[in-house]
Amino acid sequence: VEAAYDDSCLFCRIVAGQISATVVRDSADFLAFRDIAPQAPTHVLVIPKRHGYRDVAQLAAENPDLAARLLAEGAEVARQEGLADNEIRPGYRFVFNTGDAAGQTVYHVHLHVLGGDALGHFGR
Ligand code: 5GP
Ligand code: ZN
Repeated sequence: VEAAYDDSCLFCRIVAGQISATVVRDSADFLAFRDIAPQAPTHVLVIPKRHGYRDVAQLAAENPDLAARLLAEGAEVARQEGLADNEIRPGYRFVFNTGDAAGQTVYHVHLHVLGGDALGHFGR
């Protein structure tokens, strides 16, 4: 299947190299790059290169294998960024903003990988 591409989608334009980004990991099916407005010392976005899944719910429903591989890719990014095995404070957070109420702005599914410092405990 030919990879879907939407020229009105910011993340498709990054995949296509039409908008520059600081890429930290590039594989056949995924791209990981630094968020332009980081919310933690390390803030990386991981996306499937293929457009067509607007959010994690659609991705999980329609392509659970790709959803699982996106999580594994995020874990690999966290390891590569030194978050997983950090000697002082190991750990990181995965976030999927899903829909307007969560503040989702780009409807090309993306995993936020956040870390590099003590993160406030969500919900506390
Ligand atoms: P959302 O709010 O949809 O979950 O996440 C979209 C993310 O994309 C935001 O954290 C935002 O800072 C990031 N972002 C928006 N425009 C750009 C851009 O041009 N380049 C990069 N690297 N990140 C961007
Ligand atoms: Zn897209």
